Amino acid sequence: MAKKKAKKPKWNFREGDKGLITKSSLTNALIKLLRSPAVQSINFVFNAIIVSGSRMAELARAIEKFEIIVYHDTKCAIVPGKFDGYYSATDDALYLGFDDLAPIDNRMLALHECVHAISDIHGSAGITKLDDECAGYVACALYYRHAGHKYPKRPKATLPLVDAIYQAAFNLADAYLDKVANPNNEVQAMRAAILAVPIYKSAAKVTMAYNGLNHKMRSGEYALAASL
Ligand SMILES: [Zn+2]
Repeated sequence: MAKKKAKKPKWNFREGDKGLITKSSLTNALIKLLRSPAVQSINFVFNAIIVSGSRMAELARAIEKFEIIVYHDTKCAIVPGKFDGYYSATDDALYLGFDDLAPIDNRMLALHECVHAISDIHGSAGITKLDDECAGYVACALYYRHAGHKYPKRPKATLPLVDAIYQAAFNLADAYLDKVANPNNEVQAMRAAILAVPIYKSAAKVTMAYNGLNHKMRSGEYALAASL
């Protein structure tokens, strides 16, 4: 009798068989980063998305309590060979393609994902992917400034479209730091730079499923429901 074909699993099982691991060194380094003065100085609101030192500290506590898990995911790369990260609201987890937060590029990337995590903690429904991404990029630009890198210095991204996002994020971050009352031009330029990237082209129409922390997938199933 022919064996019935195994049903395709609904989720990609990423723990164990794919070598997905948590590392206390990475988790502890991220908690330390969230409590560092440069992160604690971040404070802005982008179209109702609140990013503040106290929310970053709240995230640090959630990670300490394992309400949010930090994974080192060696296969996490948008561009082959370039390690990246994402946050999944489905399984309340941060997936980072690196395990070392010493390079500032890695710290910026981790903080971008942390912005998505803090919106999930607050169950912020109705946020568009576009605004979510804008807030993430501006947060890491502000971190770069608070970490001591003064204008006009900024990191350069290899891909021109990503570099344009960075440029827009730094322009808006610098406007916030200069206390520009209504940096509308910078906000519009930030949105346009995100929408110019193919993976974000529908971002204005996509709403993020931020639903608070509920650990539904915490028993070994980890979804690849990537929110880049
Ligand atoms: Zn993002």
